[in-house]
Amino acid sequence: ELILAIETSCDETAVAILKNGTELLSNVVASQIESHKRFGGVVPEVASRHHVEQITIVIEEALNQAEIEPSDLTAVAVTEGPGLVGALLIGVNAAKAFAFAHGLPLVPVHHIAGHIYANRLVKEMTFPLLSLIVSGGHTELVFMEKHGTFKVIGETRDDAAGEAYDKVARTLNMPYPGGPHIDKLAQEGEPNIDLPRAWLEPESLDFSFSGLKSAVINTVHNAAQRGEVIKPEDLAASFQASVVDVLVEKTYRAAEQYNVKQVLLAGGVAANKGLRHELEKRFEGTQYDLVIPPLHLCTDNAAMIAAAGSVAYQKGTRGDMSLNGVPGLDLEAQ
Ligand code: ATP
Ligand code: MG
Ligand code: FE
Repeated sequence: ELILAIETSCDETAVAILKNGTELLSNVVASQIESHKRFGGVVPEVASRHHVEQITIVIEEALNQAEIEPSDLTAVAVTEGPGLVGALLIGVNAAKAFAFAHGLPLVPVHHIAGHIYANRLVKEMTFPLLSLIVSGGHTELVFMEKHGTFKVIGETRDDAAGEAYDKVARTLNMPYPGGPHIDKLAQEGEPNIDLPRAWLEPESLDFSFSGLKSAVINTVHNAAQRGEVIKPEDLAASFQASVVDVLVEKTYRAAEQYNVKQVLLAGGVAANKGLRHELEKRFEGTQYDLVIPPLHLCTDNAAMIAAAGSVAYQKGTRGDMSLNGVPGLDLEAQ
């Protein structure tokens, strides 16, 4: 089985080729970060235009690197949603054209299912499992009884973790996307500034990051007014400690509550060193098998779409020529 997968939900034009569900033959990612940086965030129109320019080049490159002809392929998988509608449409239309031209079945994939299935490229999934998804648009705890079934047991009530990172980074005058910069700075500082942790109701597995974000901004403004100096590295370390504490503790509680075998980390913020380290510490020596993907499989890529696409293909999931990009696609309805 050879799957070609296409991912264009946000600001990465990505194509990958995966053999038999787990063997990655190529994984090409054309990032647009440089084009969006000067606007301080992703500009949807700019993203769509870049995808149009890049998509055929990236498909060619993925085929070349894998040394695969289109006629060798089994199916084409593509991110159906969620994401920016204009960006999704470029990938969906490219996938439809490619599938039609080469007589291949089309397999629609949910972007967050993709983030979760990035883990399958690292280790076989054992059910029931729990996944912590932390990305630019999502912060969720997802329970999976078996392949392809997703139950959201906790989610953010306001900002996503990545969104909070990017907004705090902006306050500290760091370039977009701010997550990696704060992460780096946090390693150099001490978490000595008192910031809130949103535990919410005692039993809740939900998250909230907007209060923390406001507290960071207030801390910066108050210090400036009083003429005090706050070390940016200490602020970054304190902010990161607040985010990581809550993410790690709620993930552990959910693992206990749902009696899972495996715990998977997923999404762009999964690249965070502090989060990876603290999760490892918390789960070390426990009955739970913690899986953390390498950095290049955390941020957006098409290898993860191929991994989820392979399972969906085996399950019989198919799209036809009416397939569309769905910006608000529901994970549980998959
Ligand atoms: P979604 O997957 O929810 O649709 P997205 O695809 O835009 O959103 P991803 O590409 O999965 O999001 O992740 C991007 C986010 O990850 C950004 O907010 C970025 O700041 C954050 N991020 C990347 N690396 C790190 C890091 N080392 N520490 C913290 N955040 C990080
Ligand atoms: Mg991105
Ligand atoms: Fe993503």
